[in-house]
Amino acid sequence: MMTPVWVQLSYLIAAVLFILSLKGLSSPKTARLGTLSGAVGALLATVVLFFSGIKLNNLIIIIVAVIVGSVIGLVAARQVKMTAMPQLVALFNGAGGGAAALVAVVEYLEYGQGATPLFLIATVFTVLIGGVSFSGSIVTYLKLQELMTTRPVVIPAGRIITILVAVLTVASAIALIVTPSTLLLVALLVLSLIFGVLFVLPVGGADVPIVISLLNAFTGLSVAASGYVLSNVLLIVAGTLVGASGTLLTSLMAKAMGRPLTSTLFGAFSGTTQGGGSTGEERPVRSAGPNDVAIMLGYANKVILVPGYGLAVAQAQSTLRELADLLTARGIEVDYAIHPVAGRMPGHMNVLLAEASVPYEQLKEMEEINPEFSATDVVLVVGANDVVNPAARADTTAPIYGMPILDVDNAQQVVFLKRSMRPGFAGIENELLYDPKTTLLFGDAKDSLTKVVTSLKAM
Ligand code: NDP
Repeated sequence: MMTPVWVQLSYLIAAVLFILSLKGLSSPKTARLGTLSGAVGALLATVVLFFSGIKLNNLIIIIVAVIVGSVIGLVAARQVKMTAMPQLVALFNGAGGGAAALVAVVEYLEYGQGATPLFLIATVFTVLIGGVSFSGSIVTYLKLQELMTTRPVVIPAGRIITILVAVLTVASAIALIVTPSTLLLVALLVLSLIFGVLFVLPVGGADVPIVISLLNAFTGLSVAASGYVLSNVLLIVAGTLVGASGTLLTSLMAKAMGRPLTSTLFGAFSGTTQGGGSTGEERPVRSAGPNDVAIMLGYANKVILVPGYGLAVAQAQSTLRELADLLTARGIEVDYAIHPVAGRMPGHMNVLLAEASVPYEQLKEMEEINPEFSATDVVLVVGANDVVNPAARADTTAPIYGMPILDVDNAQQVVFLKRSMRPGFAGIENELLYDPKTTLLFGDAKDSLTKVVTSLKAM
């Protein structure tokens, strides 16, 4: 059946809304509008489908599924804490890939026999990439939720097993295109799911953001291919947009981490990313009270604030800003140093500090701020760890080796606000905590900052 013109026009409007959405998301100022534009585009596309004249089988089941999905999405999005947002994104992304794979499975079972080679290729591609994206996203979710270790997991003979599974997956995909069969389809689905798990397991905690972004691109590609399978132009457009933007983001993030993507994905296999663990021995550290920290800060000329994941956990962004304002009022030069992967999602620190209305000009990117640390009296590290860990420079066996870090150890003094001696997301010890120039103020970042602010006001 020919798609009616009004439906085609509606799809065109939805596609434009998706593109505007991406454009809006490129700046914090327009991000909210961008999200809204994407949501309106998706709603339009969904509603139009019901009135497009296409015969919809199982209408009741479809409506029930839409209601159940909407309720789950709404409740999850409303209840999720800001710090758990990346896990939610990983789960939603996995659901997208899984759904595309399932749609392709159904289409294959229905029309596989006697279909054109192009249709078969698109279907098989969707099952493969969608399956990898689904199981891979589940593993990233487990890592981010810390339901499993965040360190690289290397199984014995992992490299051989992964290569073998990859070869079998591609072989079954090719066989499926040449000789359609349900058994091969099941084999392909299972192998893709296994490959997704093997693909993500060896990735270390610090590299998880890159893998999420890559899997996001995979989901986009599988959705685009499913658009071909279902002869739906809008799915092709939307999937391609997600695939392209995900690929660009992956490459930008790999660049920010200072490593080629291949070493992020396959580094653990070469056995080079297993080090950096705790020595297990108790070593002395220098800790201080909020009063001492207030004195150090209050008599400095230049202070740099380094926010990290712990700032988001403690929700201490407004208190940090209050501290910065107090110091600035005392004539002290204050800047915020923003590492590209601080926190748990791209731009996490920017969003967090924007919530506290920190002026954008005070946020300095890593390349800009790094030369300034040597002329800084005190660096206050608030709930950050991996992004200032010198192991990234020196320890060739550390999972974060090669990642550019904020050079806080070049400053005169470094103060860490954290609750314990526990490591950061990458699960490795930070030598800087034991450095003679380092002082630790133990406690929840919000409590500690509130006490420092009180002391500073009394000075
Ligand atoms: P880290 O995870 O390295 O360190 C966070 C620190 O915050 C810990 O040392 C923790 O110590 C402390 N902390 C936690 N809660 C509190 C609290 N309530 N009060 C005070 N301190 C607290 O964070 P970074 O931001 O330095 O690095 C980000 C890491 O996450 C990198 O490895 C990055 O690759 C990874 N990642 C980044 C993503 C992104 O896109 N930005 C996505 C996924 C992962 P303690 O428990 O002792 O308090």
